[in-house]
Amino acid sequence: MNKRNFLKSVGLGSLAIMQPSIPTLSASAKTPSQPAKKARHRVWINPDEKDTVADLQQRYAAYKKAGIGDIFFEADSEKHFRAAKENGIMAHRWIWTMNRGEKELLASHPEWYAKNRKGESCATHPPYVQYYRWLCPSKPEVVNYLKEQAEAVLSKDYVDGLHLDYVRYCDVVLPVNLWTNYGIDQSKELPEYDFCYCETCREKYKEKKGIDPLEMEHPDQSPSWRRFRYERITNVVTNLAQVAKQHKKPITAAVFPTPDIAKRIVRQDWTNWPLDSVNPMIYHGFYKEDVNWIGEAVAEGVNGLHGKFPLYAGLYLPDFKGNMDDLEKGIRLALQNGAAGVSLFGSVNTTVLDTLKKASV
Ligand SMILES: [Zn+2]
Repeated sequence: MNKRNFLKSVGLGSLAIMQPSIPTLSASAKTPSQPAKKARHRVWINPDEKDTVADLQQRYAAYKKAGIGDIFFEADSEKHFRAAKENGIMAHRWIWTMNRGEKELLASHPEWYAKNRKGESCATHPPYVQYYRWLCPSKPEVVNYLKEQAEAVLSKDYVDGLHLDYVRYCDVVLPVNLWTNYGIDQSKELPEYDFCYCETCREKYKEKKGIDPLEMEHPDQSPSWRRFRYERITNVVTNLAQVAKQHKKPITAAVFPTPDIAKRIVRQDWTNWPLDSVNPMIYHGFYKEDVNWIGEAVAEGVNGLHGKFPLYAGLYLPDFKGNMDDLEKGIRLALQNGAAGVSLFGSVNTTVLDTLKKASV
């Protein structure tokens, strides 16, 4: 498997209309034949500038017919955004949040990058792969920079919402099936993948707890040092949510598959984020799980959210290896376990659209 594809897709990352999770008196009084709330689906797309407007009109009309209500575009392509909107689909801009390797930023602010427990910076020593350039979430300059980026995206009239990807720390532990690829044993948190131990983070923690995390014998085992880092990412999301709110546009995120996995390996505490909806990437193949796990992971996320905002199950189409019965089963399990819809990553062809329609009734 291509490492970049893996990390990128796991790093991946949608929108929403709040749906009441508890039936009201009047709803429960409805006849049993009352149809359930219709699922609304989503797609992640890296827009191709070579696509023609005519092609896009046709493609997005077909998406809409299949129940797709939102698209997340990984790049700014006005043509794609407008074609989606003309077909009644909300067009969101999907951005890389904490992982930012733009050359000008690396050159002008190397001091904004996260440092591992050995003191190595992502500006000079990217972990695992060259494009892993994580910013430190504790520095006010970083938060301001990300707010400016969000402001620029949301100021465009054709952008309906902001979608956060890579809104996390570097993976302190990779899924077990990748350990051999990298020749590493991550049965414990290794210092070179454990972030962020920059001066700002250490000082802020010390102010609260009276100790520098580097002076702890086992910093990886400290619950409060973990919590501190969940809160650093939550603070970034809260700041970006304020920008979205000013623009009256939804903010959504692509996150790791379950609340437990997300906290454990990338320090994402997403059930406590101020989002409009969330797309956990329930990519069963990456975790060596079967299709049934999609339902289990959705249930875990929905339970953790307590109805705060809707959850859309992120599905990785290549994991289904062309088996549309499995895809149908995965979509049904997601919906049965409380997902408001699914969010697809991969090639959304006619067969996939047909399966989406079939599974949503
Ligand atoms: Zn830091």
